[in-house]
Amino acid sequence: MSRDIETQARILDGKALAGEIRAGLARTVAAHRAAGLRAPGLAVVLVGDDPASAVYVRNKRRACLEVGISARDLDRPAATSQTALEALVDELNADPEVDGILIQMPLPAHLDAQALLDRIDPSKDVDGFHPVNAGRLLQGVRGLAPCTPLGIMALLDQAQIPIEGKRAVVIGRSNIVGKPMALMLLARNATVTICHSRTPDLAGTVREGDIVVAAVGRAELVRGDWIKPGAAVIDVGMNRDASGKLVGDVAFLEASRVAAAITPVPGGVGPMTIAMLLSNILASYERRVGLPG
Ligand code: NAP
Repeated sequence: MSRDIETQARILDGKALAGEIRAGLARTVAAHRAAGLRAPGLAVVLVGDDPASAVYVRNKRRACLEVGISARDLDRPAATSQTALEALVDELNADPEVDGILIQMPLPAHLDAQALLDRIDPSKDVDGFHPVNAGRLLQGVRGLAPCTPLGIMALLDQAQIPIEGKRAVVIGRSNIVGKPMALMLLARNATVTICHSRTPDLAGTVREGDIVVAAVGRAELVRGDWIKPGAAVIDVGMNRDASGKLVGDVAFLEASRVAAAITPVPGGVGPMTIAMLLSNILASYERRVGLPG
């Protein structure tokens, strides 16, 4: 964690923390291999030729290889049928060397994405999107949880930002970020408000938050005067501004003059998401090979 001379807030450096987590995972995998165990395995299903998806898949694959997780590429043409993909998921579910299955979204329009995600064995659902894992998170039972909110919890904890008894405001209610984020903060005894596109007086509600998580997808929606002085601000957004620059959902310079801690974009939440994906794969692997998790 560092202090930027231009700003007052502490910068929550997700890139640095993710690097530490990945180094730790690499050491753990190396120890398992040295003990004679197989490598952890991820299967990545990419359907069609969406260029952005190809980049995401490449990055995940590279991150896996760096920590010693083997990544199997299952690239399929855009015209692949639902039945063929369901058969592929069944095959991967049954494969003892596959610990995690990722189906890269979005899928071509003729495919039923939810049906495919629901077909993944929940113990291999390293994205944490399966209804069984969502239900476990809701009930506070151990399972595989979505990577982005997991990474945010790790960032808050590493920065020793108090959560219990604090007011947390989450903007966004998607199944992959907003809702699981709210549940994780609730499980840690924050008092949580979830905001969305129909929330009246968004600014006033955000101003109540000791912790603010913005997961909206609107460039610099959250302004500095929305932030309670001393709050921790987590910016999940990844948006392009008019000049093509990557910007978050929070007006960073304004907010960082008011907040006590803030994540940058890029270099905040994004790298943590991938680190948590690797961590989920390793957790799945350890259960599968019978190691105490
Ligand atoms: P999403 O499914 O589009 O959800 C966006 C949420 O924001 C919805 O709940 C929506 O409300 C709400 N919203 C939209 N406009 C709003 C407004 N003007 N005021 C208040 N709420 C508003 O998006 P997502 O998948 O959660 O992703 C959110 C952002 O995070 C995107 O920029 C995405 O690229 C980024 N992201 C980053 C990472 C990472 O690793 N860094 C991971 C995942 C996502 P309604 O429900 O009422 O429509």
